[in-house]
Amino acid sequence: MPRFDRFATLCLAFPLARVLGPRQGTRVPILMYHSISANLFGMSHPYYHINTLPEVFSQQMRWLRHEGYRAIDLHEAWSGLEAGTDLSKSIVITFDDGYRDFYTDGFEVMKQCGFSATIFLATDRIQNSPARIEGADYLTWKDVRELHAEGIHFGSHTVTHPDLRSLGPDQIEYELGRSKEIIEQNLDAPITSFSYPFAFPEEDECFTQFLEDFMVSLGYEVGVSTILGRASRKHDKFFLPRLPVNNWDDAGMLHAKLEGGYDWLHWPQLIKKSIFHNITTMERASKVYI
Ligand SMILES: [Zn+2]
Repeated sequence: MPRFDRFATLCLAFPLARVLGPRQGTRVPILMYHSISANLFGMSHPYYHINTLPEVFSQQMRWLRHEGYRAIDLHEAWSGLEAGTDLSKSIVITFDDGYRDFYTDGFEVMKQCGFSATIFLATDRIQNSPARIEGADYLTWKDVRELHAEGIHFGSHTVTHPDLRSLGPDQIEYELGRSKEIIEQNLDAPITSFSYPFAFPEEDECFTQFLEDFMVSLGYEVGVSTILGRASRKHDKFFLPRLPVNNWDDAGMLHAKLEGGYDWLHWPQLIKKSIFHNITTMERASKVYI
């Protein structure tokens, strides 16, 4: 299957980023994983796959270890960025949704490599026995407690994994507040990080400011989104960009992503969202006036 993003990243953007990009150590790659399995979740194009086979995940972790990367948590990454600390070779590893394959097929190799991770849970899917939804098993609270005791961090990914823009203020407060509360009750520890589900509407400043105010009032301190790129101190700490990683990322592609070769994709991503946002706003306006 054609992979324009791969060709452009390896042959154009990565060589340019190495010469013209920002100083190494001023940006932190936050890796975004989902499932460590062969489950394609119905997606056909490799770009959209959210799965990584256990053996490929193991190779990726061992490669990172071999290259001298260390995994830090989101709070440490943000405070380091704010303080201007040299964060070369620092990465944050995140997992969205709370798939159980992290526990069965991902955690052991991370432990062997000395890496920690943050898992963002959609709390309705976490039960006392593994919930199976659309062909995927989710972590149980027992797994979550065990992983937490082993040094894995947890954050909120809402209660029901909705498109937050389609909800009213009360429902948004429930999704952000209740999920935080449930994880805190189960772990007896404060939960202060959040991962925005689905594509992040960065072009909609009104909504993102509204959401940020909610997050502050509920006690969140840091968060991640699906904005593409590496995090810098110029980004909004509640919606930091990430680098999606999946089964197709060999050492060459992973290396390019970590050193800025994938950051260019943020521009087409933003342009696409802005065009769609403008069309939707115009449609809404025409409905009001007609
Ligand atoms: Zn998700």
